[in-house]
Amino acid sequence: PENVTILGAGLAGSEAALQLADRGFRVRLVEMRPGKPTPVHDTDACAELVCSNSLKSMKPESAAGMLKAELEALGSHVLAAARRHAVPAGGALAVDRAAFARDVTERIGAHPLIDLVREEATSLKAAARGADALVVATGPLTSDALAADLAAVAGGARLAFYDAAAPIVMADSLDEGLLFRQSRYEDGSEGEGDYLNAPFSREEYDAFIAELVAAERVVLRDFESRDLFQACQPIEEIARKGADAPRFGPLKPVGLVDPRTGRRPWAALQLRAEDAHGSCYNLVGFQTNLTFPEQRRVFRMIPGLARAEFARFGVMHRNTFLDAPRLLDERLRLAIPASAALGAPVFAAGQLTGTEGYCEAVRSGLHAALAVAAELSGVELPPLPRETAFGALLAWATSPDATDYQPMHVNFGIMEPLATRVRNKRDRYAAYAARGAEALAGYSALLAARGLVPPAGEPHA
Ligand code: FAD
Repeated sequence: PENVTILGAGLAGSEAALQLADRGFRVRLVEMRPGKPTPVHDTDACAELVCSNSLKSMKPESAAGMLKAELEALGSHVLAAARRHAVPAGGALAVDRAAFARDVTERIGAHPLIDLVREEATSLKAAARGADALVVATGPLTSDALAADLAAVAGGARLAFYDAAAPIVMADSLDEGLLFRQSRYEDGSEGEGDYLNAPFSREEYDAFIAELVAAERVVLRDFESRDLFQACQPIEEIARKGADAPRFGPLKPVGLVDPRTGRRPWAALQLRAEDAHGSCYNLVGFQTNLTFPEQRRVFRMIPGLARAEFARFGVMHRNTFLDAPRLLDERLRLAIPASAALGAPVFAAGQLTGTEGYCEAVRSGLHAALAVAAELSGVELPPLPRETAFGALLAWATSPDATDYQPMHVNFGIMEPLATRVRNKRDRYAAYAARGAEALAGYSALLAARGLVPPAGEPHA
């Protein structure tokens, strides 16, 4: 059988290894722990959850629930292990983290086609030697040596070390009556109509700033706070410098005229369309370290955002990730000239590909495994429909139109809008889920027709 080397036995690497082994490939799975630890892992187990023990909602009519349904339909081993070790958590899938990771580690250890090697990979070229394909799944805390090599191959500017992302809100949750569409500069440099503006009166501004500076923040770990703030100031830090500071920074009203008053507002937040459908908007300049509940509470004080739903909250943390739109194709394959010199096709999976979240990492490991299997079997990987949760994320993460790419998790804001408008939110989400399930069924049939489904009778978790 062909040999595949996978770097990193985290959530993505473990899923990819088990999937490829299922399909008869010989896998060398390279994990640096425990010899070389990361700042967030505590054990030497494969698929260790580094923070929360929750894999988010199981509700079928939620984006996270859709993603789980896709993982299940495609036979995910890691999701099956999570289900075996589930602990009560209402509508969410939470796990006994130690038992879950032990289960995955034992399955990897017991598989005759997987060789788990405990060493740090420091060079892509060296790792690809003797392999027919390489999958890089070393996660948000990829070791420094490998990160340096990745940066050298990809181009230094194409590998980020910090995630400083502003919140994103769903367009249909905004009160457009209070917002106005206008570009700050008349020279067209911002693109006509790309921005919605939320104008503050002086009173609204003062009340907002008072809550912003008093709000609860996430405490950064040492290794995260070192250089992060040099790169980017969180909005609450700017406000702490003085109540007027945001008015001369991200909330500056320069160049804006509120059509309802005919005057320049006291301050204004700009909202920039995040995707071509205009279904979600980024709060421009609002990188933040507030806790998620505080972001919901405080940012809803912004005029027009009283009922805002967040497709993504703002985050600032250490995170190594590739500029996926510039580097990867929809198979998660490194598609740049420099990759030709590496000696084998190189794929990426997990958080390193610029997606965010446990289940997203597992799903991208599964996707990379399918792409490798297709490549080495000489068949074409069927395109993953954008109506599926991961298909939407993949399209978003690899869209060449993306600029200043920041990681994202699955959510309804990045999905192709429904053909017909469904007003009721619950019905709308159910419609997304039904459409996704149908698209996935077609995709699964294509996988089977191309021999990309493991032979029947294989041990499927
Ligand atoms: P990982 O699971 O981290 O796996 C990567 C593996 O590669 C690790 O085992 C690592 O030891 C190994 N490795 C690194 N470099 C090398 C090398 N050079 N050679 C060999 N092996 C190497 N997501 C959520 O959904 N919920 C959360 O609560 C959550 N909390 C997070 C908290 C932190 C601090 C961070 C950084 C991320 C968090 N995430 C969370 C995001 C993300 O879902 C997880 O990081 C997830 O583990 C990513 O999976 P992965 O497979 O890409 O990486």
